[in-house]
Amino acid sequence: MADPALRLDENVPGDFYVDSTCIDCDACRVFAPTVFSDESDQSFVFHQPETGEELLAAQKALITCPTSSIGSSTGARAAIDTLPEWIAEDVYRCGYASESSFGAISYFLGDPKILIDSPRFAGPLVKKLDEAGGVRRMLLTHQDDVADHEKFHERFGCDRVLHRDDVRAHTKMIEVQPAGLEAINVAIELASDLVMIPTPGHTRGHAVFLYRNRFLFTGDHLAWSPNRGHLYAFRSACWYSWPEQILSMTRLLDYSFEYVLPGHGRPIHLPADEMRASLVKCIDWMKTKR
Ligand code: SF4
Repeated sequence: MADPALRLDENVPGDFYVDSTCIDCDACRVFAPTVFSDESDQSFVFHQPETGEELLAAQKALITCPTSSIGSSTGARAAIDTLPEWIAEDVYRCGYASESSFGAISYFLGDPKILIDSPRFAGPLVKKLDEAGGVRRMLLTHQDDVADHEKFHERFGCDRVLHRDDVRAHTKMIEVQPAGLEAINVAIELASDLVMIPTPGHTRGHAVFLYRNRFLFTGDHLAWSPNRGHLYAFRSACWYSWPEQILSMTRLLDYSFEYVLPGHGRPIHLPADEMRASLVKCIDWMKTKR
C-alpha cells in the first residue's frame, strides 16, 4: 500500500497520489496518461480523475504499479474485472507489473492463450487467465522481463520461449523452443500467424514477436516517443550493442504491422504505411546517436 506520509509534493491535491517509493517505470502513465505524469525520476498525479473513464484508468494503474506506490482512499476493486485490458482482436494488456522486470508491460493473446513477457503472479490475474482457458505458452522478449515465469509455468504447465542468447542463471529453467535458434538472426515461425524475430541490441538475445502481421510485441527494442512524434529506441538502456540494434531495427522494415506494443515506453497504433515511415525515421534518428 502507498503511504500518505510519503506523498510526493508534486501530486496535485486530491484522492490519488504517488509516494516516494516510485521507481519511475512508466506503467501508470501507459494506463492512465491523463492522470499521471513524470518529473525528474518519479511519477506524480498531475490531474485528478474527473470522469468514470479516468477513474477506472487510474485504478488500473494502481493495480499495475509494481511497487504499490499509488494511493487512493477508494482503492481499486472496481478495476479488477477490467484487467487484462482489451486492446484489439484477442490482444490484451495484462496489468499487474512486476518490480523484478522494472514494471514492464506484458500482454495476453486470448485465442492461442499466450502470455508475452511475464506479469506479476497475482491471484486476481491468475483467476482471470484460468477463466480464459489458461496459458499454453509464454513468449519472453528478453532476459530482463521474465519476472514470475516459473510460477506461471508451474500453475499452467505452459512452454516458455526465450532466445538462447538470453538464457542466464535466473532464466535457466526456460525452454528455448523450437530448436534451431542457434541461427540467431533468423526469424522463426512459431505458428501460422506468429513469428519470433531476433532483434539483438538491447540484449544479445532480444527478440520481438509479430502476431497476425498486425501486432508487434517489442519488449525493450522499440517504442513510441510522444515527444519526438516517431518510433524510437532506448539509447541509454542499450546493454549489448547499439550498432546491432540499428541492424535489427532495419530488418523490421521487411515486416508489416499496425501496433507497436512495448514492455517499456509508449505503445502506438498507426496504419501500416505510417508505421513503416515512422520506423524509417527511427532508424535515421538512431544513426545520429552512435
Ligand atoms: S507504476 Fe508505480 S512505480 Fe511505475 S511510474 Fe507509476 S507510480 Fe512509479
